[in-house]
Amino acid sequence: MTNCLFCRIIRGEVPNKKVFEDEHTYAFEDINPQAPTHVLVVPKKHIAGLKEAQTDEAEIVGRCHVIAAQIARQRGIENGYRTVLNVGPGAGQSVFHLHVHLLGGRTLKWPPG
Ligand code: AMP
Ligand code: ZN
Repeated sequence: MTNCLFCRIIRGEVPNKKVFEDEHTYAFEDINPQAPTHVLVVPKKHIAGLKEAQTDEAEIVGRCHVIAAQIARQRGIENGYRTVLNVGPGAGQSVFHLHVHLLGGRTLKWPPG
């Protein structure tokens, strides 16, 4: 996807603070952090969002969560963090390239707003 913001970040065309990269995933600091740790973990393959994900993409969706857990462990925030997928505009999704938010480093309330 030529014009997708997160595809451009993955390709290094948009400045970003990389946190992690492997063959299938890329993680970077959110530009507008909502917690002391706010990292986005994305598949390198363009998938618009969870709604659009196919069953054969389940592995990559799960992988993004496991990478988020590894980043949380490295940052010492395992007492409590949250992995979030905003799905659709009504839930606040604003970038249509699937991304797992990793939020932590502060007390997180439930239910989220
Ligand atoms: P969502 O609203 O769930 O689609 O999340 C999109 C996230 O992308 C928001 O938390 C934004 O702050 C973040 N974001 C938007 N543009 C950038 C960027 N250039 N670099 C890093 N994060 C970004
Ligand atoms: Zn994309």
